[in-house]
Amino acid sequence: MVERVYLAKPRGFCAGVVMAIRAVEKEARRSEGDLVVYHQIVHNETVVRRLEEEYGVHFVEDLDEIEELKKRHRLSGKIVFSAHGVAPQVRRKAAELGLLQIDATCPLVTKVHTEAKKYAALGYTILLIGDSADHQEVKGTLGEAPENTILVAVHTQVGKDPRLADPRTVEVPDPEKVVVLTQTTLSVDDTDATIAILKERFPKLVTPSRSDLCYATKNRQDAVRRLARHVDLFLVLSSRHSSNGMRLFELASALTRAVRIDGPEDLKEDWFEGVRHVGITSAASTPEDLVQGTVAWLKARWPNLELREDGEWEQIRFREPRPKTPEEVLAEL
Ligand code: SF4
Repeated sequence: MVERVYLAKPRGFCAGVVMAIRAVEKEARRSEGDLVVYHQIVHNETVVRRLEEEYGVHFVEDLDEIEELKKRHRLSGKIVFSAHGVAPQVRRKAAELGLLQIDATCPLVTKVHTEAKKYAALGYTILLIGDSADHQEVKGTLGEAPENTILVAVHTQVGKDPRLADPRTVEVPDPEKVVVLTQTTLSVDDTDATIAILKERFPKLVTPSRSDLCYATKNRQDAVRRLARHVDLFLVLSSRHSSNGMRLFELASALTRAVRIDGPEDLKEDWFEGVRHVGITSAASTPEDLVQGTVAWLKARWPNLELREDGEWEQIRFREPRPKTPEEVLAEL
């Protein structure tokens, strides 16, 4: 019988996700013709489906798809880039296609792009720690300095993606000029340990003054760490493609029993046999109504359960991006 539910705080939407979703909704509302978004605006299936159904948004993985879309839909002539960031080559191509660009890249991802450009210009080799060469954020940052960048796996994930080097064996042309950057949404502990391995191998390794891991990633992982010892079962609401969500799930699984769900429709009664205390957290791209739906599902079965929610909400807001003309974009590149 479930007696108590601990809601992790903070959880759910971060400032980057709020900004990106608002940017899409706003542009879709004020556009004549359908809006096109490059890549899933945030890595959550529910968010993407709602934007498709309620705002008529089209998501593409390649700008070449736009030609086909034009044959069946009246398009707005605008494109939104997702919160994960985009390589400059994609921005250039979109400009050449004459598209008005709304760049919803999270400013904390942009910061890593800026570092990549800066160190590449200084002739450094960039060791970019990420969880997959296919992750949109990794592709975007890599695109800033492809000649200078080597992708490196988190030390616990070596071999999962063969395109990522092992931090224990990666070689660089000049060990005196090497810097480490990271994807923003990795495991805090594993990233620290991976950087320590690299530092031992390359004593001159430059590490950015502030970690590239973002505040939302850290805070959500801290909240799981605080709660895990109190709970028999942790429910982690996250899409499978959410990097920060999957890291939350791995952390919760290492500390207690955990299951990942997309939403309340995935819940199964037999998971709760012998479970008294349940923890709930959600990825930075998971809508809060899915969390509340999960609580409602539990309350419907155990109406007397106690709800606990300690911690602080974050007070961070990011400014919405302004549309840029192709000429403005080409001048920036
Ligand atoms: S998870 Fe972090 S880096 Fe990603 S959008 Fe949110 S605040 Fe930005």
